[in-house]
Parts: sequence; structure tokens; C-alpha cells
Amino acid sequence: MQGAWLRIGIGYDIHRLVEGCKLVLGGVEIPHHKGLLGHSDADVLLHALIDAVLGAAALGDIGRHFPDDDSQYKNISSLILLEKTCRLVMRGGFAVQQLDTVIIAEQPRLAAYIPQMRANISRTLKLNISMINVKATTHEGLSPIGK
Ligand code: MG
Repeated sequence: MQGAWLRIGIGYDIHRLVEGCKLVLGGVEIPHHKGLLGHSDADVLLHALIDAVLGAAALGDIGRHFPDDDSQYKNISSLILLEKTCRLVMRGGFAVQQLDTVIIAEQPRLAAYIPQMRANISRTLKLNISMINVKATTHEGLSPIGK
């Protein structure tokens, strides 16, 4: 691993919630009448995580490595993008050691799906599940995000 320094990255993502799209979060397809619009599977949780991992390694952002006008990423599972990201940072001498995430969504309720999200991330990053946290909260109906 490069140096003895702990590096920390942050990530943020938002996608439009629309009818006729799948809702995929943390690699879990969640039954809901609306889903997230995007070029890939629009998995905002994994996109934010990818940005955090790239950020910690000073390797730019998701758009630089997986541009949304590149047809090879059309409808791709973001778990594949996360795996590619993991390989990228490993080439730089880094390894993800621990991560914490938060999903903001008014609906549906996500608690039941969080164990599978953590398992998917654990498998993809080859990281012990005890080092992976996923939280979900609402925006209490406040501001455009809450509505
Ligand atoms: Mg995104």
C-alpha cells in the first residue's frame, strides 16, 4: 500500500426518479413504481461510492473513467464499475479499508435491502462486510429533494 497515510474521499450523486425505470441501489433491484434515470443502471449509491474511492486516490471522478456518452456503459451494472474502480486504485497502490454511506430517499423504505447492498459491495471490493456501512434516511419532505 502506498505510504502509511490514511486517505479519505467523499462522493455525492443524485438521479431523477421516473416511471418506467428500474430502481437499483447498492446492486439490489428494489421493487418500486419509479426508478432512477441514467445511462448505466443509475445506481446512485454505487456512483457516490465510486467517486469517494476515486477521490481518496486523487484519481478524478466517475465521469472521467466511465463517461455517460460511452455506449459500453449503457445499462451496465454499477457493480462492474465499482470493481473496475477498485482495480484502478489498487494499481495506484491503494486499497479500500472501510466505507460509510448514506442514501437519502423519501420512498420506498430501504432497511430490508441494506444487508444485500452491503453483501454486494463486500463481494465486489473483497472487503469484509463489517467494514461496510449503508444508512438510509429521508429528507422529511423538505426542499425540492424531499418533494
Ligand atoms: Mg450517477
